Amino acid sequence: MIQSNLVQLHKKIAEIAATCNRDPDTIKLVAVSKRFPVESIVEAAEAGHYRFGENYLQEAIEKKRALGDRVAFHFIGNLQSNKAKPAAENFAMVETVDRPKIAAALHKYVPDDRKKLSVLIQVNVGNDEAKSGIDPKEVESLAEYVNGLDRLKLEGLMTMPPFTDDEAETRSYFRSLRNIGERLQEKGLLPAEGFELSMGMSGDFHLAIEEGATIIRVGTAIFGQRPALIKT
Ligand SMILES: *Cc1c(COP(=O)(O)O)cnc(C)c1O
Repeated sequence: MIQSNLVQLHKKIAEIAATCNRDPDTIKLVAVSKRFPVESIVEAAEAGHYRFGENYLQEAIEKKRALGDRVAFHFIGNLQSNKAKPAAENFAMVETVDRPKIAAALHKYVPDDRKKLSVLIQVNVGNDEAKSGIDPKEVESLAEYVNGLDRLKLEGLMTMPPFTDDEAETRSYFRSLRNIGERLQEKGLLPAEGFELSMGMSGDFHLAIEEGATIIRVGTAIFGQRPALIKT
């Protein structure tokens, strides 16, 4: 099931990319495996998938321990600065840097043999109180700060817009993330050769690709319905 879902998804990504004249190879798929068991990740890995997204640090570390280097993980959950050490040690990319304190804490713990940790700044494009991410007005100063930390490599921006059924509204959030990215790039705060825009999930990745996403984070469309959070 997971394997055929991945095949279908890649086909869909290629179709959407074609409609907006984009090269599908410029769109990275992060398979969001939160709350799914290690076996699901193994199944996806055996189908050739490499990049996974996790929201819960402890769960992710256990999965990484079980899987080793055959897969790479992006951290996409809320990060507390007292958990920065395991985050800096275990993830290929941390997508949810949204305040200087988190950036500084990650920077402190990037392992010596690692050189640089790739990070994205999470932007709260909808100014949604229920969502984390930095206020769009403060992105520039955070980007300056992160650029001053030599062990972090600021690769781009991530967002999780407010939920709405209105496609035009969702699209406008994605577009505003891209606009912020372009502005930062002009100011030399994002890589001149191209920056990452992580946006779009199972329900709206088609809109995100049309608006320039380079990373889409898709869970249920690959793994099926997510198991409920087990309270311990
Ligand atoms: C869970 C999650 C996703 C994936 O959502 P789906 O609807 O399952 O595709 C993407 N991004 C973040 C930050 C998430 O927490």
